Amino acid sequence: MIFLMSFDTLLNMRLLIVEDEPTIANFIRQGLSEAGYAVDVACNGEEGLDYSLAAEYDVLILDIMLPKLDGIQLLRRLRREGHKTPCLMLTARDTVDSRVEGLDAGADDYLVKPFAFPELLARVRALLRRPPLQTGTILQMADLQMDTARHLVERNGRLIELSPREYAVLEYLMRHPNQVLSRTQIGEHVWNFDFYNESNVVDVYVGYLRRKIDQPGEASLIHTVRGVGYCLRDEG
Ligand code: CA
Repeated sequence: MIFLMSFDTLLNMRLLIVEDEPTIANFIRQGLSEAGYAVDVACNGEEGLDYSLAAEYDVLILDIMLPKLDGIQLLRRLRREGHKTPCLMLTARDTVDSRVEGLDAGADDYLVKPFAFPELLARVRALLRRPPLQTGTILQMADLQMDTARHLVERNGRLIELSPREYAVLEYLMRHPNQVLSRTQIGEHVWNFDFYNESNVVDVYVGYLRRKIDQPGEASLIHTVRGVGYCLRDEG
């Protein structure tokens, strides 16, 4: 069985909007949520920086004029620290200078306000289509293999069919092998800040994954670290 990308795969994509004008922030948040993305909103530059350092986003939508820390400074900080998350800059000033400044700071694209939502959505999709910056698309742990380009998971040559959420949880574990990851870290990456907080959804999905990944006679790869979270490692 082959797991193919579907509309539902969008749900694995997590976006951060940094925008201080509530009307615009809500307008973008609502549209992107309806399009199936997990969306967080930060309302000033410092909060935006905190969010983007605390969680892994697939795209940042960054206003330039922000209180506390402007969009250009925020992005420079992130790029300096090695964060490569694609960034779409929103600018109120349609001047060559502000666009150049944004792109020089590490923005991948820009959009001039006011803009039509379908254009923003198209630009977000274009950023998400870019090939991942990590080299190589195969993630490996013992005999478990994930091909992130083809969205295939196999163990011992056996194809494993995963739902989009299961795939997202496993991909996060496989990108951080031999590290203890808290339920919060896993939850915040796969869902948005509001969704998972009150629930044991991470435990439930890890349970699903174990049932699909481990066959009788195979070593268990996802280990529970009591009181903390989970760790993907090979103890064989
Ligand atoms: Ca602003």
